Amino acid sequence: MKFYMAFVNENYLKLPGSYLFSEIARRVNQFKGDNPDADIIRLGIGDVTRPLPPAVLEAMKKAIDEMGSQETFRGYGPEQGYQFLIEKIIENDFKPRGVELAVDEVFVSDGSKNDTANFQELFDLDNILAVTDPVYPVYVDSNVMAGRTGGVNAKGQFDKIVYLPCTEENGIKPALPQTRVDLIYLCFPNNPTGMTLSKEELKQWVDYARENRSIILFDAAYEAFIQEEGVPHSIFEIEGAREVAVEFRSFSKTAGFTGTRCAYTVVPKEVKVYDSTGSAHSLNSLWLRRQTTKFNGVSYPVQAGAAAIYTEEGKKQIRETIKYYMENAKIIKDGLIKAGYTVFGGVNAPYIWLKTPEGLGSWEFFDKLMKDAHVVGTPGAGFGASGEGYFRLTAFGSRENTEKAIERIRTRM
Ligand code: PLP
Repeated sequence: MKFYMAFVNENYLKLPGSYLFSEIARRVNQFKGDNPDADIIRLGIGDVTRPLPPAVLEAMKKAIDEMGSQETFRGYGPEQGYQFLIEKIIENDFKPRGVELAVDEVFVSDGSKNDTANFQELFDLDNILAVTDPVYPVYVDSNVMAGRTGGVNAKGQFDKIVYLPCTEENGIKPALPQTRVDLIYLCFPNNPTGMTLSKEELKQWVDYARENRSIILFDAAYEAFIQEEGVPHSIFEIEGAREVAVEFRSFSKTAGFTGTRCAYTVVPKEVKVYDSTGSAHSLNSLWLRRQTTKFNGVSYPVQAGAAAIYTEEGKKQIRETIKYYMENAKIIKDGLIKAGYTVFGGVNAPYIWLKTPEGLGSWEFFDKLMKDAHVVGTPGAGFGASGEGYFRLTAFGSRENTEKAIERIRTRM
């Protein structure tokens, strides 16, 4: 029998519901209903709370005025981004670390969430991908939508994804895949675990990718939070990475652009993908083709604001905000250690990953923390099966709330 109707992309039906944050909201609302006077502190949010730096605001206002005048008005900009911003990115984010990039290897966009989600379009559906477990869910869900991941099992894991567990046993760092994979998503500094890789550790991934003709999709959205020497800020600091890696960067957490939207993706010209005859194709050309078709650039005032991050005042202002968040991270980390918790991350990233005490499940700990300390965080199980038994706190709150939350955890839990 033939049906005439609009059919759904059935891959969407395989997606897990937006269970994590809706379930958190449900539990918090219920608790608030039962305890209207409870002063709840949220250390679960992944959004920033400090405002845009003054240098950025000033540049944006000037750019808006330009848009209102006949002589300086700008219409469609280049899909790849304005040269004035791309040159500053290369000059400041890469050159000082010994990384040379050409202007047409940097693609300015309105976010790393969309870039990390969209990039998979360039790859064949039969490619096998590897993700860390726990993981930033966008990498998985975007591949599910595309139909690259196969069926789903009872643990919520997909047949065609190679999961790389990151648990206390391996120091919360992924081991190389046991079987060959084509695409590898890595995020360092990591959300949700707050962990980083050393240059030597990251080199093993680059070497693996070179040996296996795999491609590494490297998410460095939290690069600006790195405090320690020896931690790579860019995968391109690793020899050979230009042949096998793409890097995603975002101004969201670096400079408070979560609501303003600006990011960029670096696609070196050496990175190649192959067709069924074995001929090589440049990923850079393919991404350019994709972006020029499906994206029309970030607005001029936003790019002008982003460029102001690279002025002397802009750099100083974002350093101060990052320092503020990283002091919160230290307060959380030190406080939890003092209270006897096993804690990871929080040194080069705004995330603290703690092991739930007494064998409590992630959600059991969530409930206990909310009921006893009136503090809300994020259950690790929401980021993947290996996140069970772990819990994420973030450093993006106010100083006052961060200190109060830790004091409550120390005295009430
Ligand atoms: N990548 C990671 C690992 C993130 O945690 C986030 C945001 O939370 C993003 C990307 C999204 O960044 P953007 O705001 O640029 O879309």
